[in-house]
Amino acid sequence: MDNKGAVHGRGILFILSAPSGAGKSTLAKWASENIPGVRQSVSWTTRPKRPNETDGVHYHLTTPARFREMITEEKFIEWAEVHGKYYGTTWDSVDEAQERMQDLLLVIDVQGAVKLRERKLEGVFIFVMPPSIEELKRRLLERGTETPETVQGRLDAAWEEISVSSHYDYLVINDTLEDAEKELEFIIRAERCRMTRRRLEFDDFTMGQPL
Ligand code: 5GP
Repeated sequence: MDNKGAVHGRGILFILSAPSGAGKSTLAKWASENIPGVRQSVSWTTRPKRPNETDGVHYHLTTPARFREMITEEKFIEWAEVHGKYYGTTWDSVDEAQERMQDLLLVIDVQGAVKLRERKLEGVFIFVMPPSIEELKRRLLERGTETPETVQGRLDAAWEEISVSSHYDYLVINDTLEDAEKELEFIIRAERCRMTRRRLEFDDFTMGQPL
């Protein structure tokens, strides 16, 4: 499906957060591949590359020293320390998407989302939750990357994240992936139809004529 061009007046920032194991990466990948005009932002991080990842595609990888320099240079619109590693989104990536009039999906942790809220950033905040804590536990164990000990740590972190999620605008419940994909797509499409964002199309239609 064509995913390059913009399909509406301007780039909207969608902020997606979820506890680990709730399926946010899968959902974000699906959205950027299937909803025209949506692109996923590439964050900067100091964590090591995973075997299936490519520098510059999944993340921009850098050193802690360079990351700290970038903080001082005010390159980041938000950044956070997650599991002892730095993660951040640059102003450049947001500006570039807006110039291209693409909607940008930021897949970031709750601390980063709080910072964006504090900056009064105009964005749509979406939280993804599994249907239950038992299901989250089952998924974490099933994906095989966790030991029973680290699962408990992830579940504790999930509680913390869920406890600060009430300031998000939308809640997607990832019970079946198909339904969660639909919910995410409906949110994105509905946000594009807001009267305030359709102002240009509206004015083009009426050509300034009094109604
Ligand atoms: P992972 O190392 O598993 O890819 O990501 C760990 C956590 O860092 C996830 O919650 C992910 O959403 C978050 N993260 C990734 N990029 C950013 C970013 O640019 N800013 C913030 N605040 N969190 C990020």
